[in-house]
Amino acid sequence: MEDQTTAHVRVRFAPSPTGRLHVGGARTALYNWAFARATGGTFVLRIEDTDPERSTEENVQVILNAMKWLELDWDEGPEVGGAAGPYFQTQRMDTYAEALALLRERGAVYPCFCTKEELDAKRAAAEAAEGGYAGYDRTCRNLDPARAQERIDAGEPHVWRLRVPDGRGAIEFDDAVYGHMSFPAEALDDMVVVRTDGSPTYNFAVACDDANMGITHVIRGDDHLSNTPKQILVYEALGRPVPTFAHLSMILGPDGKKLSKRHGAASVEEFRDRGYLPDAMVNFLALLGWSLDGETTLIGRDVLAREFSLARVTKKDAVFDETKLAWMNGQYIKEMDADAWVRASRPWLAAAHAAGTRAAAASPGRGATVLPEPEAGTGAGEGAGADAGAAFEPTPEERQAALADIDARAAWYAKLYPLLAERETSLADAAEKLPYLFWGPHVELDAKSVQKVLLKDGARADEALAACRGVLADEDMPWEAEPLQETCRALCEPLGMKPKALFQPLRVAVCGNMVSPPLFESIELLPHEDVLARIDATVACAFGSGQADAGGTPANEGKDRA
Ligand code: GLU
Repeated sequence: MEDQTTAHVRVRFAPSPTGRLHVGGARTALYNWAFARATGGTFVLRIEDTDPERSTEENVQVILNAMKWLELDWDEGPEVGGAAGPYFQTQRMDTYAEALALLRERGAVYPCFCTKEELDAKRAAAEAAEGGYAGYDRTCRNLDPARAQERIDAGEPHVWRLRVPDGRGAIEFDDAVYGHMSFPAEALDDMVVVRTDGSPTYNFAVACDDANMGITHVIRGDDHLSNTPKQILVYEALGRPVPTFAHLSMILGPDGKKLSKRHGAASVEEFRDRGYLPDAMVNFLALLGWSLDGETTLIGRDVLAREFSLARVTKKDAVFDETKLAWMNGQYIKEMDADAWVRASRPWLAAAHAAGTRAAAASPGRGATVLPEPEAGTGAGEGAGADAGAAFEPTPEERQAALADIDARAAWYAKLYPLLAERETSLADAAEKLPYLFWGPHVELDAKSVQKVLLKDGARADEALAACRGVLADEDMPWEAEPLQETCRALCEPLGMKPKALFQPLRVAVCGNMVSPPLFESIELLPHEDVLARIDATVACAFGSGQADAGGTPANEGKDRA
């Protein structure tokens, strides 16, 4: 833990609940959390809900849930409370009124009676003239205080403006990321701190809160950089210490433009729903602007909580590269234990279960169905036909039945983990890749695989299937991947076939396509009689009538075994 400060660190994440928690906000939350943890400080969560039009209770929940999912626990804030509360700005109105009273007492603010029309006219005139608009012209700054009070007492509408002190030079501060910053005095306006209706303006509320909550470091997006001088003036007027600021650079999409919806998923929720693990997400977000040593890429939460420092945050824009996130997710999936994988994968295992059982139910009787080839441009990978149902959505009943099955057979589901663990980059892969485990005796044949593997000239797939079936039908064979595979492999020599020529037809017959998860591990997980039934159905379908049409038979009119 480096000596990042001598005082007890207090940081805050201050989202406005006007939408979901986006990647940029999540990174800000993470850096605040990590900085608090690494310094033994306090992490405060404050909800900036003063925009009544756009703030909703639902968004607050969505943000809290996203924080919880990322496991960014806060020490003070909603749900946990704390001595500096309340932690919703709408519940802090009295504190803004008190701050205003103090500033009035100190003569740091003045009432301004200029109407909107007057201000608009002044702005328009200034913009038309040379030099342009340089801010409020301070008409009300020098009103006689007694006269101003009379106008207030008479009920004349007014706002309160913060008086930029005479002779206040440039506003300067040392940003922990951007370095020395200086905002020229001419750029400083006598800003409104309290509106006509008595509500605080954004910059006033934020600075009051940070002062009252004893925030020592303000770590936030650099879109707030231009607010910082304004907020510094508020601290100074209140006579409170100015915190250290650390502004975080922008996050760009791979095309170099500011990350947005256009680049795909943008909210933490969407990433969760696409099968990313919170640990992978945290690791990935941490590296969007910070590095441990410039090279380590896999960094656990514990390391982050120990080693994070503002000194290693860069001001270079960060690039959001989802390929890297997917790779990282794969690394974390590989490290999971099987039970944890089942728990985390429930939605997608349920989808696989539902897709598989629905396909089997749609084909009455035991048989094989040849699926039509996916239309070009659907994004389904070659040979992935049968399971590529990206748009598949289980019904609530199907989902419920599937989840009940997962609960009832947790140990069996845990055995699915090795089928995917090595290659999976998203937990969602299970939904696409595993429906074949739920077909029962039925098999959905991918048309391309039928053509390329079963019906290809000289492939001798019928012979291969017959030979393998012989091994699999042997009641005395232990139903385990390794002995099954070895016994089948021993057929290669007498048949004069390469292992691939022998195994690929079997893969298609049991799993439906030529790119399925590992074959013999799959067989081990299926009931003996279902495996035999699938082979028989495939043989009948591809070779039975001697003219299997693999080129686009609609699924529900497939070639059931006669
Ligand atoms: N509520 C502001 C936002 O969501 C953050 C304010 C701050 O961090 O100072 O952008």
